[in-house]
Amino acid sequence: MSFSEFDIIRRFFTEQSVRRDDVSLGVGDDCALLRARPEHELAVTIDTMVEGVHFPPETDPEALGHKVLAVSLSDLAAMGAEPAWATLSLSVPEPEEWWLEGFARGLFTLATQHGVQLVGGDTVRGPLVVTTQLHGFVPEGRALRRAGAAVGDLVYVTGTLGDAGAGLRLALGEWASEERGADFLRRRLERPAPRVREGMALRGIATAAMDLSDGLIADLERICAASGVGAELWVDHLPLSEALESVVPIEEALSLAVGAGDDYELCFTVPETRAEEVEAICRRFDCGCRPVGRIEAARGLRLTRDGKPYLPSTAGFDHFTDR
Ligand code: ADP
Ligand code: MG
Repeated sequence: MSFSEFDIIRRFFTEQSVRRDDVSLGVGDDCALLRARPEHELAVTIDTMVEGVHFPPETDPEALGHKVLAVSLSDLAAMGAEPAWATLSLSVPEPEEWWLEGFARGLFTLATQHGVQLVGGDTVRGPLVVTTQLHGFVPEGRALRRAGAAVGDLVYVTGTLGDAGAGLRLALGEWASEERGADFLRRRLERPAPRVREGMALRGIATAAMDLSDGLIADLERICAASGVGAELWVDHLPLSEALESVVPIEEALSLAVGAGDDYELCFTVPETRAEEVEAICRRFDCGCRPVGRIEAARGLRLTRDGKPYLPSTAGFDHFTDR
């Protein structure tokens, strides 16, 4: 069965469980009509995923629907913003019911968890490309930016690192998928859990924040560059999942944890005096967080392991940072 653009919109992208009262008009007219919140700034982000570039052909559509929204939610999380409205641009070669149904399920399940309403979009025939734009609110002047890390601040990360990098190797068939922990690692790649509540709770506490999409080294360097500082990174303190440690030797695990992307955890800086407060927040949300370094005046990153200079083992590192 083949669908017209109109059928697709009506059947798959109009009905949804989230109905926000700040949406005057959602899907169906020439524009959506939305009411911005007084005394708040609107945080806006957009992400595009292209088949063959950002995900392999044959990717489960439900996982794709989840992930394209998750990466945008993760951007809002990194700013401390509260998600509100999404738009979706969908380019599909040959619309098939099972595919559209799966994609919509993945997208709406996550949207519902975060109170996000899909308010519009565009649907075209073409190569498989999905784009989501997400809007959220943050009280005026209180967004978490990359600039703001101060000398002496502790560097924190949420959750565990390197899992998605390992999941990618499993997905690419570089490792046998019977390995213990493989399902967990693939899930971490395909179904990242954006740290939205954590990001909002860090407003007024974190001095700088971003989400980890390109790997800790690359992303922490961005915080440092934006803040005009440097950092020491304690590689032996990085949080690793049991699954990752069971699948690869520790050298490789650390290499993935510093170099591989796609974890969508938060990396943020806080004054040492607020460390306990931050750890209590992350415990409350179950993801946990751990101090993994300290901001210094000298520019650049210095990686140490047990106090000695650390160089990532090239195998894991090059493959995932040079993507
Ligand atoms: P127009 O030609 O005015 O751009 P469209 O026919 O493209 O209108 O879209 C009709 C309505 O459906 C609009 O409200 C648009 O925002 C919405 N829409 C189109 N595609 C999607 C989609 N993939 N998801 C959600 N809403 C969509
Ligand atoms: Mg249109």
